[in-house]
Amino acid sequence: MSSLIDTYHRNINYMRISITDRCNMRCIYCNSHLAPHLTHDEILRYKEIQKIVKAAAGLGVKNIRITGGEPLVRPDVGALIELLYLIDGINDISLTTNGIFLAKYLDELKEAGLKRVNISLDSFNADKFKYITGGGNLEDVLRGIEAAIEAGLDPVKINMVPIKGINDDEIVDFARKSITDGWNVRYIEYMPFADSADDKKKMIGIDEIRDIVTNALGPMETCGITTGNGPAKYYKFKNSKGTVGFIGAMTHNFCAECNRFRLTADGRLMPCLMRDDEIDIKGPLRAGASIEELEEIIKKAVLLKGEKHPDSDKLDLKKRQMWQIGG
Ligand code: SAM
Repeated sequence: MSSLIDTYHRNINYMRISITDRCNMRCIYCNSHLAPHLTHDEILRYKEIQKIVKAAAGLGVKNIRITGGEPLVRPDVGALIELLYLIDGINDISLTTNGIFLAKYLDELKEAGLKRVNISLDSFNADKFKYITGGGNLEDVLRGIEAAIEAGLDPVKINMVPIKGINDDEIVDFARKSITDGWNVRYIEYMPFADSADDKKKMIGIDEIRDIVTNALGPMETCGITTGNGPAKYYKFKNSKGTVGFIGAMTHNFCAECNRFRLTADGRLMPCLMRDDEIDIKGPLRAGASIEELEEIIKKAVLLKGEKHPDSDKLDLKKRQMWQIGG
């Protein structure tokens, strides 16, 4: 069995695939509506994604996450999931969504084989939610979360990005949901992609977030969630069914454990979310590259992975925003 090992001896077995750069929300920290979007021709077709994943699976990639933009604005995501499950070696496919269309498409996604989902939610207050998301309807997301839990997707993880002065007053409310409703809540440190001093000030370090949670709700014990491929550290309150996870991409460098690379909707391989490096795979694919040739391109991209991404104060991303990469 092949393994994809990078220069720093990390085993790269997880691929995040952005299937669109479009989104039905306009989150204040993402601004996906501010730039021209990819045209139909620029975007990878599902069959093309399948061929790239086939090459990746041949090298040892096992786990896939589908993201965007908002993946569920692209028609027939279930068909893509089915195509990817046909590939030998792929044994886990998950989805990251804002949840707006989740209840609507849940049956077909589940039928296609989807077993777990991450849903982004930054506020329980309908007005604030509307403000953060540029017009999103909180009820749609809550319905999506409920539907995913009822359908037995497991785990359903709720991703919250605490932002100073905007939703930091709700940090405790999210953790409380792990006790009252068995939610698996994850806090994601705000990443200043917009690169302005003001933007950098909005970040709340993950240690501070954890302190806010434990000061209000008491101590937590560590717990290992096995389903997942990411860097989150998970905890539980005594007797609670749900979990609380912390992802400190900015203040806790977890590059040593990194196991992933990304495929953008316009067919570039990105070895690291926090670096501008990318390699075109769509061009060679459309020029008729064989699986073996695609494997070579993937290996080259993985070998570009640095030992560490720059610290938050030195982060200098010029090429793409989060929605153009796939968060
Ligand atoms: N539309 C989907 C969603 O909302 O989950 C998938 C794409 S979105 C870019 C993926 C995740 O990235 C979301 O949880 C979102 O909150 C997070 N995200 C976007 N911009 C971010 C930023 N600047 N800092 C931290 N997280 C961010």
